[in-house]
Amino acid sequence: MVKNVSVVENIHSANDQLAAEIRQRLDNASVFSINIMASPGAGKTSLIERTLHELAALHEIAVIDGDVATSIDADRAAEAGATAVQINTGGQCHIDANMLRIAVNELDLANFDLLLVENVGNLICPVSFQLGTHKNILIASIPEGDDKPYKYPAMYQDVDALIINKIDLLPYVDFDMAYFEKGVQLLNPDLVTFPLSCRTGEGIQAWITWLTGFINNPKTT
Ligand code: MG
Ligand code: ZN
Repeated sequence: MVKNVSVVENIHSANDQLAAEIRQRLDNASVFSINIMASPGAGKTSLIERTLHELAALHEIAVIDGDVATSIDADRAAEAGATAVQINTGGQCHIDANMLRIAVNELDLANFDLLLVENVGNLICPVSFQLGTHKNILIASIPEGDDKPYKYPAMYQDVDALIINKIDLLPYVDFDMAYFEKGVQLLNPDLVTFPLSCRTGEGIQAWITWLTGFINNPKTT
């Protein structure tokens, strides 16, 4: 006789319960929050730096950085004007709600109106661990290639906004935008998309306008 225990199911229901608690705390404090996911090198930290550059004078922003090791990204966020908390996952390839809860405990949420969570660079499991954040953001980047929606469908299906970073590299890379967009369209027809370059600043304003539309009650005087 074999007894089957669905460990995965139990892990996810515990995670979702913690995520719901985090969402409640964020809502109670009127903090709008996003979970930024991407493969390594797509530009998560660069997008956070650009966003802080545009918004740090107008909003009180916290950044929680998940990394397998080091605090390089959190240091960059702090340098750019945010209150930054580093999560070292100890090798784990995603942030889960329990890790985020511990990091959020380090913040006095009453002082912030925007929380940016930088997930671990990975296109597979971060999307299966809800964090309680209000929007899930995916960054694709031109050098990664135009086939990513076809290869990582779950990631593209479950996000609320897609950033296509490094568009300044389009002239130098074989990236078929129509093929890429067709893949996105098949998986997530209404996905809001922001082609931009964190390096040159092109396209950043549309992203900032969309993001700031969700921020309530700016806490900066
Ligand atoms: Mg980073
Ligand atoms: Zn993982």
